Amino acid sequence: MRKPIIAGNWKMFKTFDEAVKFTEAVREKVPSEEKVDAVICAPAIFLPTLVDIALETDLAIGAQNMHYENEGAFTGEISPSQLASINVDYVILGHSERREYFNETDEAVNKKVRAALTNGIVPIICCGETLEEREAQKTEEKVSSQVTAALKGFTPEEVNHMVIAYEPIWAIGTGKTATADDANAVCGKIREVVEGLYGKETAESIRIQYGGSVKPENIEELLSKEHIDGALVGGASLDQDSYLALLNKV
Ligand code: PGA
Repeated sequence: MRKPIIAGNWKMFKTFDEAVKFTEAVREKVPSEEKVDAVICAPAIFLPTLVDIALETDLAIGAQNMHYENEGAFTGEISPSQLASINVDYVILGHSERREYFNETDEAVNKKVRAALTNGIVPIICCGETLEEREAQKTEEKVSSQVTAALKGFTPEEVNHMVIAYEPIWAIGTGKTATADDANAVCGKIREVVEGLYGKETAESIRIQYGGSVKPENIEELLSKEHIDGALVGGASLDQDSYLALLNKV
């Protein structure tokens, strides 16, 4: 049985005070860690404070990006060992916004996955197709190549510590969700890719989230599907009631 994982992706939203208030309000209200992994991926400058607020609760804190080197002359970047030094548990890697606006390549994502694992941080690896690619029936090809590249060079044991997020780009922030069946079909394909690379046991145990306009009204149907083990949620994770509602529907 795969434990569901619901991760909020705050992107570049919230002031410091808003982030603190939200985290203080939800930390005791999230469901037990035994039932669901509840994660908030916050802007980097808030992370040390939020990690402290969430300490010894069932809420975990994640970053939205990081460099793949542990240190060096990379002005403005944040390293995996720096994140680990403040006890960040998760990191989103290869989000489509980073691939599109910050030229993040498959190769960089692969290096970041390696760096996350080395530092004991769980990577949430994003993949997904554009509307153009979907219309040209290229969804499976795109997603398979992104996943294959990101997962290159690991052991099955390492892959067990990863989370994959399938996020069709046309569904992000648009209010358009993939149908639960379509999302499930692509997540099933991702599982097949993992099976081809690392075997059936690893494919059965890796968790695959769906992301793209997930909200309390549609999460139940998505999670009822065989291959969807959770959600990566942008807009609907910004409001504390909506975030808790998502968790309580698991
Ligand atoms: P959305 O964003 O839920 O606002 O569509 C999802 C994401 O980008 O992770």
